[in-house]
Amino acid sequence: LTQGLHRALQRKPDQTALTHVADTGTRRHTHAQLADSVARQAAALAKLGIARGDRVALLAPNSDQLVGAILACWWLGAVACPLNIRWSTPELAYALQDSEASLLLADDALAAIAPAGETTLLRLPTLEEEGAALPPLPDTRTGGDALAAILYTGGTTGRSKGVMLSHANFWTASMTRGAELNNAPDSVSLLVAPLFHVAGLGRLVGQLIVGGSCVTMAQFRPASVIDAIEEHRIGDIIVVPSMLQSLLDDPAFTPGRVQSLTRIAFGAAPMPPDLLDRALAAWPQAEFFQAYGLTETAGAVCINLPANHRPEARALGRLNSVGRAGLGAEIIVADEHGRELPRGEVGEVLARGPMVMQGYWRNPDATAAALREGWLHTGDAGRMLPDGHLFIVDRLKDMIISGGENVYCAEVEAALRSHPQVRLAAVVGVPDARWGEAVHAAVVMADDAAADADALRAWCRERLAGYKCPRGISFVRELPMSAAGKVLKNVLREQVRA
Ligand code: ATP
Repeated sequence: LTQGLHRALQRKPDQTALTHVADTGTRRHTHAQLADSVARQAAALAKLGIARGDRVALLAPNSDQLVGAILACWWLGAVACPLNIRWSTPELAYALQDSEASLLLADDALAAIAPAGETTLLRLPTLEEEGAALPPLPDTRTGGDALAAILYTGGTTGRSKGVMLSHANFWTASMTRGAELNNAPDSVSLLVAPLFHVAGLGRLVGQLIVGGSCVTMAQFRPASVIDAIEEHRIGDIIVVPSMLQSLLDDPAFTPGRVQSLTRIAFGAAPMPPDLLDRALAAWPQAEFFQAYGLTETAGAVCINLPANHRPEARALGRLNSVGRAGLGAEIIVADEHGRELPRGEVGEVLARGPMVMQGYWRNPDATAAALREGWLHTGDAGRMLPDGHLFIVDRLKDMIISGGENVYCAEVEAALRSHPQVRLAAVVGVPDARWGEAVHAAVVMADDAAADADALRAWCRERLAGYKCPRGISFVRELPMSAAGKVLKNVLREQVRA
């Protein structure tokens, strides 16, 4: 994965590769500076005894230092394990012990909460300083099936699992996107998705291998993101729908300030149709595209092309699709035995191709359950049009079965959100003596909203079959969100049941 650094060194060593934007100032690195620093940090890692295949855990918000350290791991052939910065000390301890990481690199603030244990702890700035004093190490040029990263899943359904992704997995996932979208390497990409999440790490790789430029920010604060887009003429961004909503809702937002964005990718969670309409109106000139993928696929496996987001294409009914299988990927919708269903029927989405993970780290049972005959069982329920366009209807584990009928949360959420006074909505199933499960909605209302639960139920009833309408509605000030900007349905379920 370091190949892009060498290519950029030949072509444009003095152009900016990486910019970190913080309240305290901006740090810029050219491709030449970045490659030199990475080669020296790799030397510092080697001096600490890290060798090819060793796991190096990383715990830091997005920054140029975190990017440099991840690249140094790859330069040396080590496996980067970026950990979720919102995890508690026991969760971090579990990942460190499970991955048998030889080293934990943490930023100054997080070094304080890092668990004490077998793993050596080093501060990220120290790695950089120590590297600066050493001669650069030659690149091991590790690639192919060698592991590049282990990304830990959120563990929403039990113990967190380490997803093993090889250099080839990342490379092909980036190519999938590049081939579909005719990559524009000269645009500047804002990395707001965390690098411990596949959306952030995958986007970094995608920019890196084409020699593009990235801007990092530690946190997603809408007003600062808007400032950064304007000041750094950001062209490309990948966002989770909740991020897009907070940008559009921010008082600092005016379309004029953000028109440099010409490519807006979204995915990772269902895009509410009303939010997509707002975004399309705010950026009439931009290319929008939706990506669907999992940590287990190192990035996108399906891409809904910009053409399907243009007003004149609406009649095709593909606007809210996650698109077709990208280059190199195969996608089918299957029954519980893994047999492909006729187009139009709802079943589990299966994916196959060179971007699919090597398995779960030291977890053969989970690997055998997820990977069957080369197909990754995604756990998502989907439906496919005859022309191959896929729609994600729900996560199978979130789907509600009420009175024997399947209720897809995303459909109920979209109906609630279409109410002018509803800002956010999330739907979960709660145990119900009569129906098995009952539909329950948690909603965040607009500040001056007057509608009550009966009004929202009546609104839903006009749009949905009776069994899909929420029986219970809680009014909340906010929804529990993951660090990647997704609603944490397991936490919400607990809150609703409490
Ligand atoms: P974890 O497994 O860590 O608990 P997670 O299930 O969110 O969290 P990820 O690999 O981060 O794991 O996300 C993959 C999931 O995100 C997919 O299985 C799918 O449910 C959802 N997803 C991704 N892209 C889209 C999209 N474009 N539309 C709807 N859902 C999406």
